[in-house]
Amino acid sequence: MRHLHWFRNDLRLNDNPALASHAAAESLLCLYLMPNPRPWCNLNGIGKQRDRFLRESLIELKAALNKRGQDLLVLEGSPELVIPHIVERFAITEISVSREPGFYESQTIEFLEERLSIPVVTHRGNSLFAEDELPMPLEDLPGVFSPFRRKVEKKLFVRKPIDEVERLPPTPAAQFDAIPKATEKPPMALPLPGGRQAGLRRLKQFVYDEERITEYKLTRNCLDGLDGSSTLSPWLANGNLSVREVAHTIFDFEQQRVANESTYWLFFELLWREFFHWRAHVDGQSMFQLSGATGKPRRSSFEPRAFARWCAGDTNYPIVNALMRQLVATGWMSNRGRQIAASCLINELDGDWRFGAAFFEKHLIDYDVGSNYGNWQYIAGVGSDPRGGRHFNLEKQTADHDPEGLFIEKWGGNRPAQPDYITDAADWPIDNEKV
Ligand SMILES: Cc1cc2nc3c(=O)[nH]c(=O)nc-3n(C[C@H](O)[C@H](O)[C@H](O)COP(=O)(O)OP(=O)(O)OC[C@H]3O[C@@H](n4cnc5c(N)ncnc54)[C@H](O)[C@@H]3O)c2cc1C
Repeated sequence: MRHLHWFRNDLRLNDNPALASHAAAESLLCLYLMPNPRPWCNLNGIGKQRDRFLRESLIELKAALNKRGQDLLVLEGSPELVIPHIVERFAITEISVSREPGFYESQTIEFLEERLSIPVVTHRGNSLFAEDELPMPLEDLPGVFSPFRRKVEKKLFVRKPIDEVERLPPTPAAQFDAIPKATEKPPMALPLPGGRQAGLRRLKQFVYDEERITEYKLTRNCLDGLDGSSTLSPWLANGNLSVREVAHTIFDFEQQRVANESTYWLFFELLWREFFHWRAHVDGQSMFQLSGATGKPRRSSFEPRAFARWCAGDTNYPIVNALMRQLVATGWMSNRGRQIAASCLINELDGDWRFGAAFFEKHLIDYDVGSNYGNWQYIAGVGSDPRGGRHFNLEKQTADHDPEGLFIEKWGGNRPAQPDYITDAADWPIDNEKV
């Protein structure tokens, strides 16, 4: 009965059925492994802001566990190598995880089940509904959002989050090392600190203190965070907040104060998150394929220099430059901004959408496999968009969302124009040594 809980995107003690399942264990080892970049796209680890948000969240989680006589062991390395070693070292008899979508994530669990001769138990993850509550088997999950929403909204209610775990079995070892702090600070332009307490503060501020939720439908397309949308995504994606507690905060507010189209719309967006969460379970490896699950051939003449310019915010499109600079500096971008930046890479620069998705994965402090790859596929027309993809008119988007150019100016989006193609001796495959 020596258990291990492998924390992934469930960095909280409340509404965490996996963590709550260890009450009868003799000891419990809480483990977190720092994320690895996708194996097929080496963009060199995670961005500074994502790393910062994560470390702040882990330090707070460790302190919360310490208060309960527990601890958190944080290691680097792939789960396939590290976990078998830990299991042997601490003679672990059972592992728990919270359910997460993603092909590689599922493959890892399958590998561990096969490699270790102990149970690896998967519990409900950070979703509004458990799989057995869904009104259809996963194989019959609608391919587009609207039928999914109609089915779940009519039939299902969101269960209340389960209580915070108060008592946990002791750790099998003396205290683990402190987690090194991040070198970065939350950016002044968008200070979103990691950890559950900051998430709870933001939820209360957006819903109750400032009642911004009552005008959310009108403000959600604002390009800068905090003034427009809820900016709850980083805490949802890392699991500092449970999506059920966010949903119930909305319902309670609607009962106690105001219910209008905007309050409903915030819940509607949580249903989008839910849709992409379950689609990612079904779509498996096709989430990462150029044609997605459609199998439609998709032409793309990927040009490395254009991609590098897009990443650096150095294209000929000031709005896109400002957005990309905002992303790298803060780790966050609004939904409208993500749509504009993604459309630019796909349609203007003819780029392979998967590289854009991988760059977002590296930097977003709210990176979530289903929402990220699902939305990229949607815009590229190889996912769940019934219209077969989106092409945003960048001039119109700029006029609609940044009419006075303040956002572009704030993030330094006006860059010197550059030729689309450069022919340079350095581009020729000549071995200078031999010339
Ligand atoms: C190309 C692209 C990539 C994206 N990558 C991610 C990602 O990695 N992680 C992520 O959480 N979201 C992603 N999104 C969805 C969306 O942009 C963000 O969830 C949203 O901008 C976060 O800001 P917010 O919390 O203020 O959102 P709000 O507008 O306040 O919405 C509330 C919550 O609803 C959910 N939500 C809102 N819009 C969407 C959506 N389109 N799809 C799925 N869930 C949604 C989020 O959990 C969000 O926190 C992506 C969208 C695009 C177009």
